[in-house]
Amino acid sequence: MDKKVAALLNDQINKEFYSAYLYLDFANYYAAAGLDGFENWYRVQAQEERDHAMLFYQYLQNNDEKVTLEAIAKPDQVLTDHMAPLRAGLKHEKYVTSLIDAIYAAAFEVHDFRTMQLLDWFVKEQGEEEKNASDLITKMELYGSDAKGLYMLNSELGARVYSAPSLVL
Ligand code: MG
Repeated sequence: MDKKVAALLNDQINKEFYSAYLYLDFANYYAAAGLDGFENWYRVQAQEERDHAMLFYQYLQNNDEKVTLEAIAKPDQVLTDHMAPLRAGLKHEKYVTSLIDAIYAAAFEVHDFRTMQLLDWFVKEQGEEEKNASDLITKMELYGSDAKGLYMLNSELGARVYSAPSLVL
């Protein structure tokens, strides 16, 4: 595998684990606020991010590339109110999209079609992640300022169930 592509894929393992850590921090914020549904939603999201990390890990292993695990950064978002994690989440997903796109561009440059095919799934996944994050903000703007609305929204988010990623390596 091209050295630059392999390095970017290895770095993405760390970025995905950081995403999991960030969303666990969001879950932690909502747990303290008594919003167990929001907490559940971000716990599930954190699990998905760990899955993403493991997909990149497994892909490198499958292709006989050395995996190097680096330190995971501390979640750095200041969560001032119930909307703050949602806005930070959308911003973060847009950043992750830019990372996936950058790996794709590097793979495209060296005609690494296998890695491009792997990344096709992540390109689609990022579209869904951005939509989910954006929808949460819209719902919070619509219903979050009213106690009953917030209660209903919390109940809805509490129903989210984890399911394993559709991509199998
Ligand atoms: Mg991810």
